[in-house]
Amino acid sequence: MRAESEKQDKSICIFHVDVNSAFLSWSALKRLKDQPGSVDLRTIPSAVGGDIKTRHGVITAKSIPAKKYGVKTGEPVVQALAKCPQLVLVRSDFTTYRSYSHAFIRILHEYSDLVEQVSIDEAYLDMTGVQNPQEVADRLRAEIRQKLGFTVNVGISSNKLLAKTASDFEKPDKTHTLWQEEVPGKLWSLPIGELHGCGRATARRLGSMGILTIGDAAHTDPAVLKAALGNKAGTYIFESANGRGSTVIHGQAEDAKSYSNETTTAVDITRDNYQKEALPIIRYLSGKVSKRLKRDGFRAGTIAVSVKTDDFKRHSRQRVLAESTDEEDTICRTAGQLIEDLLLSPEGLFAKGHSVRLMGVGALKLDTGEFRQMNLFDYLKDRKAEQKKAKLDGMMDEISRRYGENALKKGIDGT
Ligand SMILES: [Mg+2]
Repeated sequence: MRAESEKQDKSICIFHVDVNSAFLSWSALKRLKDQPGSVDLRTIPSAVGGDIKTRHGVITAKSIPAKKYGVKTGEPVVQALAKCPQLVLVRSDFTTYRSYSHAFIRILHEYSDLVEQVSIDEAYLDMTGVQNPQEVADRLRAEIRQKLGFTVNVGISSNKLLAKTASDFEKPDKTHTLWQEEVPGKLWSLPIGELHGCGRATARRLGSMGILTIGDAAHTDPAVLKAALGNKAGTYIFESANGRGSTVIHGQAEDAKSYSNETTTAVDITRDNYQKEALPIIRYLSGKVSKRLKRDGFRAGTIAVSVKTDDFKRHSRQRVLAESTDEEDTICRTAGQLIEDLLLSPEGLFAKGHSVRLMGVGALKLDTGEFRQMNLFDYLKDRKAEQKKAKLDGMMDEISRRYGENALKKGIDGT
């Protein structure tokens, strides 16, 4: 059992893609576009943030040359200018940032069907099943550089924590791996404060106990860490210092015609744990889809589910609804029936010996509220007409039967 789960974990591959000095790079690109021939902000000491005129506020991003002067993200502009008087300051520009961010995420979707965006400039990709991750990551970096003009770092590992840590290694425009077996060599020598999720106060507290590196924490009795930091934080520090982290990726996709939410699952789903593991995921995903439909004023005429099996193949099912919906309960009930059919039926995937590591729920054939109301109104009108007609037909039959074919004609003539 254990050997099997270890084998499965090895096959999981996650990328963390992070734009290098995102705001500064994007401001630099915008400036080059607006003022062709002007200096590239990335090549001089420059920073985004604060109020340019009053020189108040803090630095939100800096160029690599500015970093060499000791300019730090989050420090007051005044302090940064004291360190580097020639620092060029630019205002933040979220309209530009959002459009670069969209273009960036769009490219990521070409590399994986499961992309979890975690902030404006970073995302996790499920790359499980990819043959040569390093090569694919290098290709992804090159494509972003060539098409969009800025650089990213890619971190590769078997969980999110290690992938994120890896993407933070040497910058810019680099791919790094941090597989479980590389943890002792690449992670343990780093100061404890560099462990993702270890705040400054926690680092100080651990430092006072003689725990200075991530390796020190990895080799400390978890009971000692729990006693010092509390159960939750103590467990987190111990587990993550040993390179263990979540492998669950929540993705979402939408285009003009459909919305879908997908997630990798924490454990492989089989017939045995179906009730316990799969049903809450279906509920969760249906809730997400329903919320997005309601947010945008759409209803779905078709519900779809999809799963990825242990051989990395995708399977899906869909069903047309009698009436379009945005309700979580209806979406969930339909998705549940479809998943059951896909997995549990006699010809289903479980019967074929597969397990499942990704599940998705989608909404297709979208219509808007007004359109649906109009349809419903027409439908009711038609139905009333039909009922009237049926009633009339019935009456005519009755009259004909009682009084003969001609009786009704006479009656209608009113004579
Ligand atoms: Mg970044």
